Amino acid sequence: MNVLQNQSLLPYNTFHINQAARYLLVVHSVQELFEALDPEHVQGQAIRIIGGGSNILLTKDVEGLVLLNRIKGIDVIRETATDVTIRFAAGENWHDCVMWCVERGYGGIENLSLIPGTIGAAPIQNIGAYGAELKDVFLELEALAISTRETTRFSNAECAFGYRNSIFKQAASGKFVILSVTLQLSKHPVLNTAYGNIRQELDEMGKTNPTLKDVSDAVIRIRRRKLPDPAVVGNAGSFFKNPVISRQQFETLQAQYPDIPFYPSGEAIKVPAAWLIEHTHPENAASWKGYREQDYGVHPMQALCLVNYANASGSEIFALSERIITSVQHAFNISLEREVNIW
Ligand code: FAD
Ligand code: NAP
Repeated sequence: MNVLQNQSLLPYNTFHINQAARYLLVVHSVQELFEALDPEHVQGQAIRIIGGGSNILLTKDVEGLVLLNRIKGIDVIRETATDVTIRFAAGENWHDCVMWCVERGYGGIENLSLIPGTIGAAPIQNIGAYGAELKDVFLELEALAISTRETTRFSNAECAFGYRNSIFKQAASGKFVILSVTLQLSKHPVLNTAYGNIRQELDEMGKTNPTLKDVSDAVIRIRRRKLPDPAVVGNAGSFFKNPVISRQQFETLQAQYPDIPFYPSGEAIKVPAAWLIEHTHPENAASWKGYREQDYGVHPMQALCLVNYANASGSEIFALSERIITSVQHAFNISLEREVNIW
């Protein structure tokens, strides 16, 4: 096993933070992973998994062993006239898998095009975008328990998926390495174009009778316009979750801010965190949106995205997130929750 020592994680996180791992191992197969987790090698060290590093903020060096998941493979395990069931190995790139499915006409994840990261991380926060969530097509996953090295299957219900949430962010946090994810996709998909400006984008593309590929292309075009590209500027997408508040609290807010956007979420109301952030400001500037200090700040186009312009540290970005949370708390009495995993 080629375990590297004191290795910078700079190439392995999209925030481009330069913190090191005490030990780092790139894992290409389940067998390698199994051996890496041998208690004789691990000797009580903490184990962390990185896929694409697009949902972590490194605030310090990581003690223990970091496993970089590069386990690959795509297997069609069942096919009927209407559906196809596909098992994706956890180290596959999410967007590449979406493209693989779109090319073959398998529908259900086209609205999740261009989300960075790996298949194995997708269930962790039940990735979602443009009116779709992983849970809508998720059948099961296989995971290796870190302490016992036993393989376990989790069904959709057992994953306890919620809004950017799952059992792997709650009771099972840090206990499993996800090995593969099995999705059930449709060969005759009903396209979901109702969200936001997908339909408008399709119109602009001249697609009056859109295909699966057209919807994927529309999502990709919107995302490329609106979101910072981690290859250009360090970020981990939305830093905060959209808060879901009670109807009563929402009505009080709406009385004060009649233009506040909102989306019903069961009995409660989801309020865009970006709007809340845009309607508060730092002590020393007119707006959080576009706010910058040294190498860190808030993206000028996306108030939800905190960014590293060059050599910011994770703790500077974390401190910025604290200031934004306090600011929103004071203005609206709403506690923003971080979506990004803080290490
Ligand atoms: P990592 O950052 O490597 O890991 C994230 C967490 O999952 C860590 O706690 C890690 O330990 C754990 N983990 C990773 N792999 C495994 C595994 N195999 N087993 C067990 N634990 C594991 N998210 C959305 O939901 N919707 C979006 O639209 C979206 N857009 C984004 C846009 C941009 C520009 C960026 C930078 C991020 C965006 N994200 C979005 C966030 C992110 O891409 C997703 O959360 C993605 O699933 C993270 O995958 P990753 O492999 O990079 O995870
Ligand atoms: P947007 O379309 O400008 O909308 C702002 C927010 O309002 C979104 O976060 C969305 O919540 C909510 N919203 C808008 N239309 C909605 C509808 N019809 N029904 C329910 N909720 C609605 O958002 P954006 O920032 O450009 O992002 C577009 C999509 O990509 C969103 O789904 C967003 O979650 C996703 N995205 C996620 C990340 C991440 O890192 N998690 C990063 C970039 C983009 P939802 O977030 O619940 O959809």
